[in-house]
Amino acid sequence: MKKKIFAILLCIGLAFTIVGCKKLSTIEKVSQDLNEYSILLDYNHQENAISGTETIEFTNRYDAVLPNIKMHLYPRAFSETAVNRPVSKLNEANAYPQGVDYGDIEIENITLNDNVVTPQYEGQDNDILTIEYEMEPYDKVEISIEFEIDMPRVNHRFGYGDNTINIANFYPILCVYENGEYNTSPYDANGDPFYSDVANYNVTLEYNSNYTVAHTGYETNKENLGDRTILDMSAKAVRDFAIVMSDKFSVVSKDVGDTRVNYFYYDQDNAEAYLKTSTDALSTFEKLFGEYPYDSLNVVRSNFVHGGMEYPNLVYISDEVEGVENYNNVIIHEIAHQWWYGVVGNNEYDYAWLDEGLTEYSTLLFYEENPDYNIDYNEIIKNATNNYVTFVDLYKEVIGTIDTSMSRPINKYDTEYEYVYMTYVKGMLFFDNLRDVIGKNKFYKGLQDYYIENAYKIATPANLLSSMEHASHTKLGSFFDSWIEGKVIIGKIS
Ligand SMILES: [Zn+2]
Repeated sequence: MKKKIFAILLCIGLAFTIVGCKKLSTIEKVSQDLNEYSILLDYNHQENAISGTETIEFTNRYDAVLPNIKMHLYPRAFSETAVNRPVSKLNEANAYPQGVDYGDIEIENITLNDNVVTPQYEGQDNDILTIEYEMEPYDKVEISIEFEIDMPRVNHRFGYGDNTINIANFYPILCVYENGEYNTSPYDANGDPFYSDVANYNVTLEYNSNYTVAHTGYETNKENLGDRTILDMSAKAVRDFAIVMSDKFSVVSKDVGDTRVNYFYYDQDNAEAYLKTSTDALSTFEKLFGEYPYDSLNVVRSNFVHGGMEYPNLVYISDEVEGVENYNNVIIHEIAHQWWYGVVGNNEYDYAWLDEGLTEYSTLLFYEENPDYNIDYNEIIKNATNNYVTFVDLYKEVIGTIDTSMSRPINKYDTEYEYVYMTYVKGMLFFDNLRDVIGKNKFYKGLQDYYIENAYKIATPANLLSSMEHASHTKLGSFFDSWIEGKVIIGKIS
């Protein structure tokens, strides 16, 4: 996510013949060994409600016996009684311009291998659905869930506003199993409280024909039934599936290699310029980090309270972002997330800096590579350092003490400002300092290796450390620790 608070390999010659060139696995190859979600959705535009049926073909690929099956029900956070709410008090007025509204998901019926099961609900907001069914490694089950969704009127990831209907984090999604338990972190108004494995998706949406649909993946069929349209979509090896609809969308498109880049917009004159920013970002990040493996990238202007939001193959750009420079900044940031969150996943709840810090730094690298955008790398680092130091000093003065560690779950930051400074700003400064310490060539080699080695998987800070140590032939453990644990003195290190 991008907070509005910011204005702000080569394998050649001998090496190739001996060790070969590390390449990203193809989507076709990766997708053969993934869980499959098939989701049928019927959107009722009068009620802003969705009737859905989801079938998951789930194979236990964890090296462990699973005691049960757990799924997140993220829409529960939008219900009237939710404890872990999606919108902070600070953002309430902007998120709910017509007054606070609520939404929810109701589970109607669940079967497992065609047998009806009674689920249990856990978490403060009953946002974790549990099916009692033990699975040995490589056991496979088919789970079918019927659900009804009530969409809230809110300018958020999940909700509808004046211009767009944002359908994301809406369906039951499997929790990640690690270290002997499922990760069941609840929603949080701070950061992006999501965490999921890559999977394959087949999604069918029925909707009013006067709407245009932006979505993860690619279209496989479209049937116009007059007032209603049925759209079939597929996506392979993606971490999530998101849809944005509008009856106001226009679209401009351009291909970058095999990828079709679409910019969906309304109420805007300079769409071609923003399409160019999007294609420039895709080309730049492919050059710096490695190949973007998908056929489509959809950049979608939408009603959203924060600056932007990343989903696989699809990013939101808030229509509240003002000024060309800021709007470009959000586009570039969200597209960088396709590498850091999308292809290389991480626990965004516990290690938010790992994707946000690297994404924010990637945005800066974009400017360095594209001087015609007139944003100076050194100037940004200087300002970020000054702002960070001022923030820390002020915080100490007012509160008495400050925790500058980056290794905290998102619900352990006292304020949104503290979260943004420690994950985005300090995260960016960390990567800048790392590049200074090991040098540009080794830094890029490390990042490219990190990308390939962790593609379609879940990376941890230890994976990043390992890639950087291998690329630089330097022990970096204490360097990483001092930044991550909050011991480094920023402003004195450059
Ligand atoms: Zn972000």
